[in-house]
Amino acid sequence: MSIISANMQAVEQAIAAAAQAAGRPVSSVQLLAVSKTFPFQAVLDAMQTGQRAFGENYLQEGVDKIAAVAAAAPDAHLEWHFIGPIQSNKTRPIAENFDWVHAVDRLKIAQRLSEQRPAGLSPLNVCLQVNISGEASKSGVAPADLPELARQVATLPNLRLRGLMAIPEAETDAAKQHLPFAQLRLLYEQLQRDGLPLDTLSMGMSGDLATAVAEGATIVRIGSAIFGKRTYKETA
Ligand SMILES: *Cc1c(COP(=O)(O)O)cnc(C)c1O
Repeated sequence: MSIISANMQAVEQAIAAAAQAAGRPVSSVQLLAVSKTFPFQAVLDAMQTGQRAFGENYLQEGVDKIAAVAAAAPDAHLEWHFIGPIQSNKTRPIAENFDWVHAVDRLKIAQRLSEQRPAGLSPLNVCLQVNISGEASKSGVAPADLPELARQVATLPNLRLRGLMAIPEAETDAAKQHLPFAQLRLLYEQLQRDGLPLDTLSMGMSGDLATAVAEGATIVRIGSAIFGKRTYKETA
């Protein structure tokens, strides 16, 4: 068994344990394998354990990898998630190549993605990135502006608004990890009460997976715990 397959199994076990501890069905948490900076062969390797959903941060790298994997495994039917920051002049390749986008944080981006989504494809699944307290980056919609943005995005014809996403500051103290995830969950539940049919809370990475699951994550985005340490600097 390859290291990646072994890591995949360990991460799946960690998700199952966290779900059980939270009294949630294991099937309510989806593992998104974040393959950014790793070659397409790493994706093929992770597929050996049945993994189908992969996340990419960098547009050109992601588009190239999707093509390489499709050529090597044409029947794989993978689900590709774009989880990186989005530049408004780079929306078209995202709309054309990906199934999900996690970091939409303004209306203009959402409108462009909807306009540029090819007619033959199903609506693009979208999460809104929220800038909750302790957010490492400056991106994400402010909580106060979220309800209006969500209402507007939900009306766009070629998008399907699925939920919310956040990237809290890395925090090793488990007690301090809870707060931003709990904040995101409250915002999510409020939008649901307002009538939006949301089903996705995209939160939790390699270092805070268990806490995110305890706070209700439905997608955890896991990179280094599966593929190993990334070796090039992350610039968007
Ligand atoms: C890189 C990245 C991840 C995965 O991070 P790890 O700590 O390697 O698990 C998850 N989400 C986003 C948005 C990322 O950029």
